[in-house]
Amino acid sequence: MPKISETSVNAVLGALDIIDVLSDYLTLKKSGSNYKANCPFHDEKTPSFMVSPNKGIYKCFGCGKSGNALRFVMDHEQLTFIEAIKLLGKKYNVELIEEAQSPEQVQLLSKKEKMYVALDWAKNLYISILNHEVDGKIAREYIKSRGISPKAQETFGLGLSPKGWDSLLRASQVHKLDEGVLNDAGLIVKREEKTFDFFRERLMFPIIDTNGRVLGFGGRDLKGDGRGPKYINTPQTEVYDKSNVLYGLFQAKRAVRNKDRLILTEGYTDVIALHQAGIEEAVSASGTALTEGHIHKIKRFTKNVVLLFDGDGAGQRAAKRGIELCLRMGLFPKVCLLPEDH
Ligand SMILES: [Zn+2]
Repeated sequence: MPKISETSVNAVLGALDIIDVLSDYLTLKKSGSNYKANCPFHDEKTPSFMVSPNKGIYKCFGCGKSGNALRFVMDHEQLTFIEAIKLLGKKYNVELIEEAQSPEQVQLLSKKEKMYVALDWAKNLYISILNHEVDGKIAREYIKSRGISPKAQETFGLGLSPKGWDSLLRASQVHKLDEGVLNDAGLIVKREEKTFDFFRERLMFPIIDTNGRVLGFGGRDLKGDGRGPKYINTPQTEVYDKSNVLYGLFQAKRAVRNKDRLILTEGYTDVIALHQAGIEEAVSASGTALTEGHIHKIKRFTKNVVLLFDGDGAGQRAAKRGIELCLRMGLFPKVCLLPEDH
């Protein structure tokens, strides 16, 4: 692993708020000046896991596990010290000063880490193509026509996947990225001895976890020749499971916590439109119906959910299903159906 400077490590440690960090993993309940939760490290029905925001530490009186926010992330995510620092640095926007990773260093990363590196690289490639004067025009015009502001475009990391069958693959070879890793991450497809890019000439919506890592993408067709589906998503991979990820939750989570409310919409552009209108607590299930996995994610942040769906038959059915699932899992849902011609 590359060496991260001591200043950067201290900057990350200084940015950590133990309640904020642990809330991404546990449902914390206030208890006097402390918080308590069911211990994630042993099986229990009554909480013996205590967190002290003043001391910045946790301790489980059942199994004895204790430590600070960094220790928790290392144990819970099974990460090394450096991996945890990198993860938290990303989450708290602390820029880490490190030596550049050589292809040899990348080889030493775990399989999942390599996939994250490839996905992050792809996100940046897509952004640079969108910003390219000539090639990016089609995407910029679409973004403008949908009323998406430049700020929202940046917040959500919108990009454009390149034209041609294998432009991303060829660009990856220049950067010495492993073809097998790109395949594992759902960026390329191998079919009958041919290898091509999974996303071609699509507006790209990076799907990001609550720690700021890119897991996959949604891609909207911009060719308009009617030959492919309007939207496609990264297929199931070792890091992307659509039944467990909510689009926009990374950008929404602070607002969700502050407002104690989450708005569930149907699409990527709905999330972005609401966010830029100041309704930052909006998310959507990416390319799938609401699942129990989504609700577990939501419950870490709030119990109050507003289902904001289309008023057509499909929207009504989705809303009905969503309410039933929310109620069954202990959330307090409300529904807002939009007029059919919105
Ligand atoms: Zn325990």
